[in-house]
Amino acid sequence: MWKNDDISHFMKYEDILSVLDECNDSCIFIWNITDDHYSISRKAVDKFNLDNNSFNHVLKTLENVVYPDDAPMLDEDVKRLIRDKAGLHNLEYRWYNKNHQPVWIRCKGQVVNDNENNRLFLIGSISELGTRNKYDNNTSLSKELVLEHEYKNFINQNKTVKGYFLIIGVDKFKSINERYGTDIGDQVLADVAQCIVNIIGTRKNVYRLRGDEFGILVTGDGTDFDMEAKKLYKEVRCEIDEMIKSRNFNLFYTISGGAYSFDAKNDSFATMIKNARFALHRAKLIGRNIFVAYNNEDYNNYIKKIELQDKLRDSIVNDFEGFEVYYQPVYKTNKNKVEGAEALIRWNSKDYGFMSPVEFIPLLEESYLIIPLGRWIIKQATMQCKKWMAVSRDFSININLSFVQILKSDVVKDIVNCVNETGIDHEHIVFEATESGKLDSNIMVKNVLTELSGQGFDLAVDDFGTGYSNLRYIRDMLFKIIKVDRAFIQNIDSNKDNYTMVKFIINMAHDLNLKVCVEGVETENELSCVLELGADSVQGYYYGKPMPAGEFEKKYF
Ligand code: C2E
Ligand code: CA
Ligand code: CA
Repeated sequence: MWKNDDISHFMKYEDILSVLDECNDSCIFIWNITDDHYSISRKAVDKFNLDNNSFNHVLKTLENVVYPDDAPMLDEDVKRLIRDKAGLHNLEYRWYNKNHQPVWIRCKGQVVNDNENNRLFLIGSISELGTRNKYDNNTSLSKELVLEHEYKNFINQNKTVKGYFLIIGVDKFKSINERYGTDIGDQVLADVAQCIVNIIGTRKNVYRLRGDEFGILVTGDGTDFDMEAKKLYKEVRCEIDEMIKSRNFNLFYTISGGAYSFDAKNDSFATMIKNARFALHRAKLIGRNIFVAYNNEDYNNYIKKIELQDKLRDSIVNDFEGFEVYYQPVYKTNKNKVEGAEALIRWNSKDYGFMSPVEFIPLLEESYLIIPLGRWIIKQATMQCKKWMAVSRDFSININLSFVQILKSDVVKDIVNCVNETGIDHEHIVFEATESGKLDSNIMVKNVLTELSGQGFDLAVDDFGTGYSNLRYIRDMLFKIIKVDRAFIQNIDSNKDNYTMVKFIINMAHDLNLKVCVEGVETENELSCVLELGADSVQGYYYGKPMPAGEFEKKYF
């Protein structure tokens, strides 16, 4: 089987090897280094980009097989073996297969020095490592495992290796897959990979990470790696934009980038990749199509936020431990008395103490925990209302609804079940929704509000005048009450502009048959102004701060 006349001395080895070859998946090889002749199992010709299983001029011939980026590594190892005339060869690198696709192989061999003939041999085997773990067929890039291996090499060298790791992610990749199918998704990934390679000039140091992420590892002795990373990100983005343009915008997408400047002496592989991923996560959060460099303060804040979210979750799971609904009096001008309250949530945490809803409501919204807590608030508030109605028949309660409850839960069903269980008339409950870009012009919001209104609940626009003041939204969404934000009431007695604004809002609302509640009235002068302007109800510290139910009862009943 082995065709090398010069190595007759080795025939007994060859016989053994050919037998081994039959019962082995690997390809066994003998390289006569002295005569520069190579023989390998015949099956290697079927697997790899080889014309023959036996050839001379070994390194030159192997150029057709060895993946170019890996050639220097192989060269170096061979030089070492020849120099030392002994030793083990153990390398993982890439060979081209029959389809000219790089595949990972492990080449293991032993240098044998035949002193009698004064010849040097390398005898060993080549086995395919399987492309799945190390290599991405779609983009022809190495995977995270290879990056890990290469980065850990820096650490093992124990030298100062510095640089940056840039992760590029395709924005909204999931929706590309959903809209156009995974074949197009794969094509997008292959295109992005190619654009990155065009800019870098080699596939080396470019990695296909998980999902839609690509990593680029750059080492050097620069002074501002964050700037370098940003520049590289922009170049890649331009390349992608050009490609999209050249294809007549058939498919349009953007990329985000996040980078971490590392020092291999101090940063483990896990730290390096985690921090770069965090930066990318921030870029996507901020609004995509941008670059963000890792920042320690951002990271610490993020960790604090995650911890806080965990504590909130614990409290909710733990029977809403630490949560309490407070009630702020609502004064009705036509009755000249407090005859209602707004339910406002409070959280007294074991770890953080008393915390404002302004801080924790957004976290609950982000994690959708506002849905179970919102249900609990509705239950508490309606039971409280029923109790107070026994003393004051017309008493009503205002409950805040978050856009997450409206958009992401079956809020109408929840409310109707809860209120029916409590057994009070629907007209005693007002639901407040903040006018914001999140609710505006969404057909689902309109449906929910229409259903609530159809069920006999009153609806109020909260914080009117701040953020989006879309009058069409007010007109179309079946609101009965406008709540004017505190910002307009502050110093209304001395601030002419505020006075004019509130006058205008109240007149407009009354013309549209809507009632107006002014919020944040703190002083007697402010109160007389809003009464003079015809507000229908008034809320504010002047009448009372939000307080626990027991205190409210003592004060107003
Ligand atoms: P909001 O719905 O606009 O509630 C009115 C806020 O103004 C309350 O703050 C209240 O304490 C405060 N306030 C009332 N009168 C005065 C005043 O005269 N002067 C001053 N300086 N402030 C006054 P709070 O309770 O801290 O709530 C803040 C926000 O948190 C609420 O604004 C609401 O958006 C949200 N929130 C509170 N409870 C809930 C809830 O149960 N569910 C939902 N989804 N959001 C809630
Ligand atoms: Ca409110
Ligand atoms: Ca408000």
